[in-house]
Amino acid sequence: MKPAFTAQILTLFPEMFPGPLGASLAGRGLEAEKWALKTLDIRDFSSDKHRSVDDTPAGGGPGMVMRADILGKAIDAAKHEADPEWPVVYMSPRGRRFDQAEARRWQQAGGVTILCGRFEGVDERVLEAREVEEISVGDFVLSGGEPAALVMLDAVVRLLPGIMGAEETLNEESFESGLLEYPHYTRPQVWEDREIPAVLTSGHHGKVAEWRRERAEEITRIRRPDMWSTYVRNKEEKV
Ligand code: SAH
Repeated sequence: MKPAFTAQILTLFPEMFPGPLGASLAGRGLEAEKWALKTLDIRDFSSDKHRSVDDTPAGGGPGMVMRADILGKAIDAAKHEADPEWPVVYMSPRGRRFDQAEARRWQQAGGVTILCGRFEGVDERVLEAREVEEISVGDFVLSGGEPAALVMLDAVVRLLPGIMGAEETLNEESFESGLLEYPHYTRPQVWEDREIPAVLTSGHHGKVAEWRRERAEEITRIRRPDMWSTYVRNKEEKV
């Protein structure tokens, strides 16, 4: 059977993959070919004997920039292997912020091609010419795109069928319903004088569901006013 999802990574450090995605549920899924991971070493597309991929920035300034000609060839090779549906993305602090909706989009596309930058980043022209989307993992600067790619792929892989086990856990999670998740508890019943909320051990499913929804709403309202106002608006529109 064809894997449900394929990630192609363009990187200067192929040895960083699968890294943490080779362990636990994602690792087992990878081994069982429920998803696939391919790396392309950007240095393989360099034509000089030092296999260099970068050069000094036009206009001066510190650092080095990854060359458009080499990246263009690398992206073309990746696209040749890819399904046309798969997004082609560049890990970039300037990009649109990665979120659960983006994870779903990649999962539904069945694959993604990810360009990981290093140094100061990449020559702008290659992003324009190959219509590469820029995606950020958050408002901070990493030394390379690889850790960002690992984070994003973790979020996608756990959505695939047969990776997580219980499918319903996915639907109840933070962000899927537009709310943050309710708090969890497990045994022991009393720990350091703290009891599990009585309703959760009452055996009354309706009351448990109601309590969880209320807590999820309260936590979202307090911690994420941005999510809360979207949630309230969507609820009003449905009425
Ligand atoms: N000079 C750039 C930062 C380069 S960091 C700037 O100021 O915007 C080197 C590489 O790390 C980038 O090319 C990018 O691929 C990756 N990277 C850094 N921060 C990232 C983030 N928040 N999200 C995704 N990728 C990031």
